[in-house]
Amino acid sequence: MSELLPIGEFSAQCGLSVKVLRTYAAEGLLVPAAVDAWSGYRYYARHQLPTAQLILQLRQAGIALREIREFLQDPDEGRLQAWVRGLDRELAARRCALDVARRQLGLLATAPDAPTRHDGGSIMTTLIAGSANDPGTVRDTNQDALLIRSPLFAVADGMGASPAGETASRLALDTLNSHFTSKPTAAGLAEAARAASQAIWDKAGSEPPLDGMASTLTALAVLSNGKTAQIAVASVGDSRAYLFSDGQLRQLTHDHSVVQALMDAGELTPDQARSDPNRSLLTRALGIAPVVEPDICLPAVPESARLLLCTDGLTAQAEDPQIADVLATVAEPGQAAARLVQLANHYGGTDNTAVIVIDINADHDAP
Ligand code: MG
Repeated sequence: MSELLPIGEFSAQCGLSVKVLRTYAAEGLLVPAAVDAWSGYRYYARHQLPTAQLILQLRQAGIALREIREFLQDPDEGRLQAWVRGLDRELAARRCALDVARRQLGLLATAPDAPTRHDGGSIMTTLIAGSANDPGTVRDTNQDALLIRSPLFAVADGMGASPAGETASRLALDTLNSHFTSKPTAAGLAEAARAASQAIWDKAGSEPPLDGMASTLTALAVLSNGKTAQIAVASVGDSRAYLFSDGQLRQLTHDHSVVQALMDAGELTPDQARSDPNRSLLTRALGIAPVVEPDICLPAVPESARLLLCTDGLTAQAEDPQIADVLATVAEPGQAAARLVQLANHYGGTDNTAVIVIDINADHDAP
């Protein structure tokens, strides 16, 4: 064996902190060559330095630990090139998103400052919402959460071993609600979503059992301004919002997931995505960084429409035509939500499922 270096000296030479080295060792990525049975002090072999420096570079390139572990088992130039191509695709997708954001910025500037449910007293937009939240058929815990505080509605899907996942999704919605209440506008919704990420990040950093927790968020605020409602949707992750009108189901949100990125790049079909082993990997989630930017969408809504918010427990199991059929045939929003959860459980129920159905109607007879 080559010369043994104490962990502190090894850290100084390879550029990885002692804390990071301990994390990697726990992940089986870079295991100490020796450990002092008496003191527990760790030692690394000098010949491990190039591997440590390679890991450092790959981490700086944003490569996930799991992928690095696989790469080290079978180092391959081809895989490096695939990562470069992935970066090119991601960059293109981010440029595209920024172009959309620039256009949406112009819409935000014209959004109302505060929500109102009346238009000159002659037309009132009414909202009727119902929901269902179910752990599914396999899981003992439910990390999905939902919020109904009309005119604000939201679902969140928490990540992290219990109780971290439940904590993340609940904290996301509580933070969203408190911030949106103080600024109930489209811009306020975006700020509330950013605040939710910051809150999860801060709490995870201060409470070790919650380390690494994260959450999706899809939030919908009705900013009604009269004859037709104006709505704003904020989303991070793969929970979704849909608009159902005239028998047509339209997805309003775009998943932040690896399979969605591959579909956008034309490398995966929707059918392939449904069974892809990476289908649960997200490219954006609240709490993975202190600042996480939500997508904001301001769709046009007809006078009468049905809106659906749901976690991936529904969309991973049921297909759009099946969801549309329930929305078309079950009149009461709460019963429609319950039926959608039944649908998810019927097709496996392997994940938690949270659903909110909102009926939005312009009432022309309102005083
Ligand atoms: Mg889920």
